[in-house]
Amino acid sequence: MANISTVAESKDITKLERTGAHSHIRGLGLDDALEPRDTAQGMVGQQKARKAAGIILRMIQEGKIAGRAILMAGPPGTGKTAIAMGISQSLGENVPFTMLAASEIFSLEMSKTEALTQAFRKSIGVRIKEESEIIEGEVVEIQIDRSVTGGTKQGKLTIKTTDMETIYDLGNKMIDALNKEKILAGDVISIDKGSGKISKLGRSFTRARDYDAMGADTKFVQCPDGELQKRREVVHTVSLHEIDVINSRTQGFLALFSGDTGEIKPEVRDQINTKVSEWREEGKAEICPGVLFIDEVHMLDIECFSFLNRALEDEMAPIVIMASNRGISTIRGTNYKSPHGLPIDLLDRVLIISTTPYTGPEINQILSIRAAEEDVSLTPDALAILTKIGEETSLRYAIHLISTSSLAAARRKSTVIDVVDVQKSYALFIDQGRSVQFLEEHEKEFMFNDVSAAGQTGA
Ligand code: ATP
Repeated sequence: MANISTVAESKDITKLERTGAHSHIRGLGLDDALEPRDTAQGMVGQQKARKAAGIILRMIQEGKIAGRAILMAGPPGTGKTAIAMGISQSLGENVPFTMLAASEIFSLEMSKTEALTQAFRKSIGVRIKEESEIIEGEVVEIQIDRSVTGGTKQGKLTIKTTDMETIYDLGNKMIDALNKEKILAGDVISIDKGSGKISKLGRSFTRARDYDAMGADTKFVQCPDGELQKRREVVHTVSLHEIDVINSRTQGFLALFSGDTGEIKPEVRDQINTKVSEWREEGKAEICPGVLFIDEVHMLDIECFSFLNRALEDEMAPIVIMASNRGISTIRGTNYKSPHGLPIDLLDRVLIISTTPYTGPEINQILSIRAAEEDVSLTPDALAILTKIGEETSLRYAIHLISTSSLAAARRKSTVIDVVDVQKSYALFIDQGRSVQFLEEHEKEFMFNDVSAAGQTGA
């Protein structure tokens, strides 16, 4: 693995936007002073938690923290995931944000620690300064600063290339060619499409003073002897995991599309870590710690927690945001009980942000935002009744009723949801409370009924 590839080939992978439960969330809804606005960017209420999240966001953006862990703790449906999404939206595309439900790491295909390692490495960005994107057939100008007959003279080297792939390989090949083919500043060279061979086409030396004549918008950067610098520099961010996959012989970059990356050998990671450190020292790359969001973190077990504790100490660790809706519960893999099902040593290092249940007006506001997001209209009475349902059952259930009620409205050829539609949905789809009640009333008719489990539902 002499040449470590970055994601040059797979740059165009577009991340799928998740439309769904949180598609109305566009940010944390804070003003410049990080104060939460009442309702903004799809966010309603939960002021304290949003403000705390804003501070974390600022710290992430300023690159001040790495390897910190945050725990969002609160009852179900109080916006823990929504706030994490808000952070993600505000971070922008160049900061990696990985979402993981803790249960996803239990798979037969890879070990738990491998799955966690991949999640960690997906959340660490490497900002690589690269040559500019070159359009096929475009003439690329590269400045070199090279000793010519005794003194240092600046010159212009024009590279003509129509092949995209050879471009990414250019750095090393150019240096070789400069030496082998005695290419000097000002030479015009071409790159063979098939072999990538660089050859000298002719010579048109341009001295330093000629640059001045080129006008102010032609920018040239001073380079050390023999090194090359493209006129335009492009910075792109890839994750350590993407670099791992591309350089893993068994996988190859196509695995990035299928997501089926399997386990990656530790040697590959070691080599990549070494290479990335070199790039950092040479000023070619920077590490940009992103965010790893682990939902339902209480589903991890003691081995994973111990892995987390250690992984957070790594110099290249991302910010880990965990969420749990559990109270005092058993730590998986042990007989011990602990707050949120997390071991005390891990709890001790996390900053905890708590979320609290919503008030009626807040539920009302969230439901209207959701209705707008789903492109459905509600009569004021229907909204009022949905709000009541949200208060008495759960916000999530009320949100679900919007879509089912809209179908009911469509069946009666109305474009607006009215009370009857909500009533119909409410009767057809029972909420958790009524479901439990139903099970209790009909327990004998169900298979494998364990009465003692009924009390735990929804814990
Ligand atoms: P759980 O513990 O069950 O995972 P949670 O705390 O992560 O729950 P969410 O999934 O974030 O809850 O919230 C439930 C629904 O309510 C989602 O559709 C979410 O987008 C929406 N929601 C929650 N809080 C807000 C808010 N403050 N503003 C707007 N929408 C919200």
